[in-house]
Amino acid sequence: MARQTRAPARAAAKPAKPPAPKRRTAKPVHPEAPPEPPRKAPRKAPTEAATTADSKAIAPRDMTPPEILQFLSDLARAWPDAETELHYSSPFTLLIAVVLSAQATDASVNRVTPALFAAAPTPAAMVALGEEGVAALIRTIGLWRNKAKNVVELSRQMLEHHNGEVPGTREALEALAGVGRKTANVVLNVAFHQPTVPVDTHVFRLANRTGLGRGKTVEAVEAALERRIPADMIRDSHHWLILQGRYVCKARKPECWRCAASEPCLYPAKTDRPTLKPPRRTA
Ligand code: SF4
Repeated sequence: MARQTRAPARAAAKPAKPPAPKRRTAKPVHPEAPPEPPRKAPRKAPTEAATTADSKAIAPRDMTPPEILQFLSDLARAWPDAETELHYSSPFTLLIAVVLSAQATDASVNRVTPALFAAAPTPAAMVALGEEGVAALIRTIGLWRNKAKNVVELSRQMLEHHNGEVPGTREALEALAGVGRKTANVVLNVAFHQPTVPVDTHVFRLANRTGLGRGKTVEAVEAALERRIPADMIRDSHHWLILQGRYVCKARKPECWRCAASEPCLYPAKTDRPTLKPPRRTA
């Protein structure tokens, strides 16, 4: 018969004492030292989201169809021959330039692409150049390491799935490395002349500010613009809106006083021409 054994009774565990808080010893202060100024929390720069979230920065209503027509006609006159400011010579180099332009200015991309496209004008040459070779040529733009990886990978994917050609559908473009909806829309608009409205930071801001097509998300603004802009203006409107946002309807402070489309615009806080201070007279 097996002997019954009793589990040894556990000694009641003593609750562990919490560690005593460390005492901070104040630095010796000179008796005549001035009192320290009160510490301020660092001020954050206003973000784009904060700007567009401000109710004053958003049109109180959507534009009516006649207002849309007038607004876009005014922009068309202000920006005749509007085109992308990225330099490219083929659908492939356009695609690469647009991928590189994410969170970078067109000017900074245009500074690196001449050397990059001279070394690798085709997907096969880009794959041969390799990630390190691409990285060495685009190091001055933001996110260069990740972009170098994507540029080589998307070139390899184009060779594998599309005979080295840039595909002409949104689905195929978005399946390429580093290509999102906005990049696909730009390529479809510029290289394939399709009526797409890529929504970047400028287009998002303008659509909400002016009442052209208000929305809380990029997708909502894109859908509103596609629905509201007349079909024959939709392709060019992409360039008009970007140039207008880049040079006149700026993020921090729009320059409404010199805006060609001020009349139909519904922005409720239009800006006046800045007054110049008279020069100080010297005796
Ligand atoms: S610059 Fe001013 S008037 Fe012109 S579109 Fe922008 S908010 Fe409207």
